[in-house]
Amino acid sequence: MPVIHLPASVSDILSRLAAAGYTAHAVGGCVRDSLLGRPVHDWDITTSATPDETKAVFTHNRIIDTGIRHGTVTVMRDGQPFEITTYRVDGAYTDGRHPDEVTFTGNLSDDLARRDFTVNAMAYAPSDGLIDLYGGREDLRRGLIRAVGDPLRRFTEDALRILRAARFAAVLGFFVEEQTLAAALELRGRLAMVSGERICGEMNKMLTADFAAPVLRAASPLLSAAWPCLSAEAFCASADVVSALPARLPLRLAAVFAQSLPSAPAVTLLLLRQSRSTAEEAAAILSVAQTLSVGGQGRAEKLSLLGKYGLSVCTDACLLAQAAGLLPGEAAQQYAYDFARWQAEGTCCKKSDLALTGADLLALGIPSGEAVGRLLDELLRLVMTGQLQNTRTALADHVRRRAEASR
Ligand code: ATP
Ligand code: MG
Repeated sequence: MPVIHLPASVSDILSRLAAAGYTAHAVGGCVRDSLLGRPVHDWDITTSATPDETKAVFTHNRIIDTGIRHGTVTVMRDGQPFEITTYRVDGAYTDGRHPDEVTFTGNLSDDLARRDFTVNAMAYAPSDGLIDLYGGREDLRRGLIRAVGDPLRRFTEDALRILRAARFAAVLGFFVEEQTLAAALELRGRLAMVSGERICGEMNKMLTADFAAPVLRAASPLLSAAWPCLSAEAFCASADVVSALPARLPLRLAAVFAQSLPSAPAVTLLLLRQSRSTAEEAAAILSVAQTLSVGGQGRAEKLSLLGKYGLSVCTDACLLAQAAGLLPGEAAQQYAYDFARWQAEGTCCKKSDLALTGADLLALGIPSGEAVGRLLDELLRLVMTGQLQNTRTALADHVRRRAEASR
């Protein structure tokens, strides 16, 4: 029997519930990750106590009622939140996503039966050891994501589980078991019933996972059902590129989008419910990678890319261009080196780097208005092309000469 090392606060919560006459176990992801030796980020607890009974046990702790309708009470211990959920069975699902009602039950096995995958349906308490009614431990050993019960029924109840299967496979480096995968493929159209936010959450976790590439290859029709603006072929084709890139979300999104280039990637990403900063960064990475791949830029053009987008976007664009074969590796590495060197040397690449400001130009007698911006643009171009030194004297001399010439 495996022994799971519970944090002191979790043991204490379990024993307090037990002392009050209830059964209680750690359950779900924390049991799965403990058995795998992976770090556990949330310890969820499942109990026979109803939410009111749970609250009565923890009167001395701060309690948050967020999920109370679904039986979840959040108890704060040592500054950390712990979700304690009453054993429940889910009623009928008519919207393909949420149970119409949840019913509390005194029975742990009912609660485990409603959980999505065998590896997520195990419970543990020091007094009882591991409760594994669906062969979760064996599936962990074999590296399988298998639905609890009939996969067709489970995916029909809640279509988000289709994508969760792909996500857990990518995070854990597992395969989706054959019948579970067949059911997911068959019912993938039901992903249209799931909210964009929930889809985005799962897709982002999948894309930034260590084992995203095999899932991009094997589950591409599912992924395309989740995000129909991208074809299954595009997901499949991005697998090698994604696996060659660090696990940064905007970079990996750019890699997937590079396969099928929508006309306005930032807008498309916003429609997929990405945050504004992620959407803009991914679009910027794509845009710089494409510009570099066309080639023919001189030093000034590359400096202006650095000025406009910043070092991290430019570096990621080089990584993407290399991984996607838009540029030969040597060229991409040379560009990345240049960007980093210019940044380190403080090479002037944007107006705010110029040794003269707009206020300085006004002081030199340039009339306020558009002329100031235009003149700063001109100074920047001359500095970046090496025709002017970026010093106050050189820039001011140029401004004066120009003013005299136009008199
Ligand atoms: P992680 O938090 O690492 O992403 P997790 O397994 O804790 O993984 P959560 O989404 O936090 O996943 O859910 C906690 C548990 O609740 C799961 O382990 C599973 O038992 C159950 N669960 C979550 N979502 C569903 C669902 N859509 N259908 C059935 N059971 C679910
Ligand atoms: Mg969790």
